[in-house]
Amino acid sequence: MAVLIFFIAHWFLSLFSQTFFYHRYASHGAFTMSKSRERFFYIFSYIVQGSSYMSPRAYAIMHRMHHAYTDTEKDPHSPKFQKNVIEMMMRTNKIYMGIYKGTYQPDEKFMKNVPDWPAFDKWALTWTSSVFWSLLYIAFYIFFATAWWMYFLIPIHILMGPVHGTIVNWFAHKYGYTNFKMNNTSKNLLPVDFLMLGESYHNNHHKYPASINFGGVRWHEIDPVYPVIRFLNWLGIVHIKSTSLKKVEVEF
Ligand SMILES: [Zn+2]
Ligand SMILES: [Zn+2]
Repeated sequence: MAVLIFFIAHWFLSLFSQTFFYHRYASHGAFTMSKSRERFFYIFSYIVQGSSYMSPRAYAIMHRMHHAYTDTEKDPHSPKFQKNVIEMMMRTNKIYMGIYKGTYQPDEKFMKNVPDWPAFDKWALTWTSSVFWSLLYIAFYIFFATAWWMYFLIPIHILMGPVHGTIVNWFAHKYGYTNFKMNNTSKNLLPVDFLMLGESYHNNHHKYPASINFGGVRWHEIDPVYPVIRFLNWLGIVHIKSTSLKKVEVEF
């Protein structure tokens, strides 16, 4: 029971930080927040992503490239150009690390208005940090696992962020239905998406990248993070941009 609770909590908290902070805020600027709150979400992301913590800046720049170059050779991750999931994950990681280390130079237009906290990332992205978190996950399983097969869940904990990224970047560009005819392979992977917190309405998202609501095109497309952002906006913690409430086509 403890393992199940831990797995579900880690899955959804890590995914929430990715969709809320990295994707909708850092990459698409769908809402704004103060610098101190931004730093709070940096620390929150570090805790909930643990061993697979990613640089929000490098993630955002790479993700903007994905929207601008979807399914072309310049796309950081496309099932059209990579033969399998592993090959796509390796290429994504190579470009992401290149952006983070400054050895890969993306177009200037992708680098504007991205959150950046180099001193924090420098420390949070070390091998020591990843190993520390991984050992914590293993220790949890040693204490609480009640069956041998549960240990097979440990690699998912260690690679939680990339696992979520791959589900969207690979599967939501291969399987599912479309609401909009696009020049790319984006699909809505799940008709009702609680499992991926709205991220799998990927065809909707490619059509309206800055919209605060990834669902809402068909009646059953409920995006669980949309009301959370509306609530945080109501509390004054974030500020939703007026354009993000409309379905508008923007560059990224
Ligand atoms: Zn996509
Ligand atoms: Zn996006």
